Formats: sequence, C-alpha cells, structure tokens
Amino acid sequence: MPAPLLIANDIYRHSTLGGKHPLSIPRVSTVLDLVQALGWLAPQQYRDSRPATPEELSRFHRPDYIAAVQAAERDLSISAEDSERYNLGRGGNPVYATMFRRPATGVGGSLIAARHLLDQPGMIYSPGGGTHHGRPAQASGFCYFNDPVLAILTFLDAGLSRVAYVDLDVHHGDGVAEAFETDPRVLVLSVHEAGRWPHSGRLEEEGAGNLFNLPVPPGMIDDEMAALVDDAIGPLLEGFRPEAMVIQCGADALADDPLAKQELSNTALWRAVAALKGIAPRLLVLGGGGYNPWSVARCWTGIWAELNDLEKPERLPAPAESLLRSLSWNRTAGRNPPEHWFTTLQDAPRYGAVRQETRDLVRRVKERMRA
Ligand SMILES: [Zn+2]
Repeated sequence: MPAPLLIANDIYRHSTLGGKHPLSIPRVSTVLDLVQALGWLAPQQYRDSRPATPEELSRFHRPDYIAAVQAAERDLSISAEDSERYNLGRGGNPVYATMFRRPATGVGGSLIAARHLLDQPGMIYSPGGGTHHGRPAQASGFCYFNDPVLAILTFLDAGLSRVAYVDLDVHHGDGVAEAFETDPRVLVLSVHEAGRWPHSGRLEEEGAGNLFNLPVPPGMIDDEMAALVDDAIGPLLEGFRPEAMVIQCGADALADDPLAKQELSNTALWRAVAALKGIAPRLLVLGGGGYNPWSVARCWTGIWAELNDLEKPERLPAPAESLLRSLSWNRTAGRNPPEHWFTTLQDAPRYGAVRQETRDLVRRVKERMRA
C-alpha cells in the first residue's frame, strides 16, 4: 500500500466567506500547518488541488447554475431572481470574492483524488472537500458544489460498481443521498443529529435499498458512535465489499462545535476512520462541517495520523502549540479557550451508556442486512 496523500490548496488560507459566517474561521490551512509542525507530511505525500472546470462540474451541476456562480463571483452581486432560483446570496450561501474558485477547488481536490485512486489504490485525504449539501442547480448549507457526488461519479464512470459513502457530519448528507438514492451501485450511509437541519434523513428513508440513515438524538457520546461503527456500519460495509469508499468527516458532531448538540470527542471520529479505513482498497477521506477552529484543526490533524498509523503525542511540541495559540475566534467560547485546545490533539474521550434510540438504529441496520 502506498503512503497516503494529502490534498489541499492555499485558497483556503487566503479567502473567507465573510466575517460573521461560521466558515470565516481557518480550517484546511491550520490542518496543513499543524501536520507539518508535527513532522507528519513527507513532501511526496502532498498534492496541490486546483479548481474543477465548468465542464467537470457539469457532470453533476447544471450549466446555468455553474455560470451563475461564476458571474456572481465576477460581479460580486446577483439579481434577486437568480438569488432565489439558485439559493445564492442568502440562506448561508453568501456572494463573496472566491465563491466559484474556492468550492471549485474543493471539487478539484476530490476529482484528483478519485482519478489517482483509480490508477493506484490507497488512501487520500482532502480536508477541503465534503460539501455534501450542494444540489445540481442550487447552493445549500454553505455548499455551492457537491464534491463527494462528483468523486463518486468519477468512480462509477470508470466502471466501478460498488462505491460506499459514509457521512459522519452532524447534518444529514442530503445532497449525496438525493443523487444516489436509486442507484444500486452506491451505498449511502449518513449518521446525523435527529431533528436538526436539513430535517431529512429519517430512518425510514431507504431509497431503493442502499440508503441508510442513522439519526441519533442530541447528546451522542463516543460509546454510541463506537456501537454504530462496530455493530452496524462496519459489518454492513464489509458485506457490501466496496471497491471504493468516501468518508465525509465533518467535525460538527464534536462537543466543542457551536452549531450542533452532539457530544463526541475527536477520539470517536478517529476511531471510526481507523475502523473503516481497511474495508475498501480505495479510500477518500473528506472534511465537511466544523465551526470551532481549534476543534476542527485538532480533529482533522488526528485523522491524518490515523491514515498514516502515526502515534499522537500526549502534549503537542512547541511549534504546534504556538500555531494553535495564534488562532482567534470571534465567539464567546473563543475569548477564553480552555488550555487543552492549545496543548493537546486528543480530547478526553466521552464514555457512557448507549441509549435505547441508538441501540434501535443498530438493530434496524442488522435487520436490513439479514433481509
Ligand atoms: Zn454539518
């Protein structure tokens, strides 16, 4: 197995969706700096992303929508009619200076990764990807283009017939589910917080049979994620025998995230990736949501460690610590960050009882596996 690759781009360092937007925090650039500060990135493991072209995007997105995003980037404005039609300039999808190039670069990373994995099986990490809410002709939930869908289509177009998509973001991966709910070649599984936006992804939504929704009530802890992974998701995927797998690793189900109410430590996501990474010969791990700059950086850096089987230090070395101390966050919790956000990678694990609702989700997946 070749060494895992990390794909990123400096556009994430030099662009912002605007001061008050939850995504105005640095994320990908901090991960890149942190893995380098830890000595975890050999030069040959890095690949630069590039923006996907309109033609590449049109494999999933409608040409008039792609043109509208480009025009809004150029003009820094959008008509009321197009705003409503494409959900741009509203609903958390602002018009901003790199609103085409930045999300197109996320897609470019996923396309580079998928093509590389077709040539050479292995593991690729693209933390700038994971924009799972994007629709063919609409932006949604901070997502302008849908890179997981385009990566999966790349696998299918090359002739793969079993592709798994696992979405660990706190929000339902609705854009990916809609794209493949009737395609038997793609198993789409989403773990998300029950009752949260976008309010889809109910347990009963099973598509044509390969759609799995695991809505967990607020308060999910590490032991519940472990139960889902060990008793349901892992066995299900092993039975499906995917030729390629995409894991969307949004960090917004972590307890320290400001937008949701799950209670995971980053250990829960690391453990999930470690448990699932060997199931398919081709693995693409993406980012996703995550709105606390420290918890995102620490979580996603640890995921790179999992892919490389690297041991995480209990206390971060000085260069990594000073990097984390240099971050700021325009939120109440950002004024007095707890010391461990600077000095450690790992949160304290959150152990406890697996609730009945979570056990019911495991049971439902097992029933469907037997059927
Ligand atoms: Zn999310």
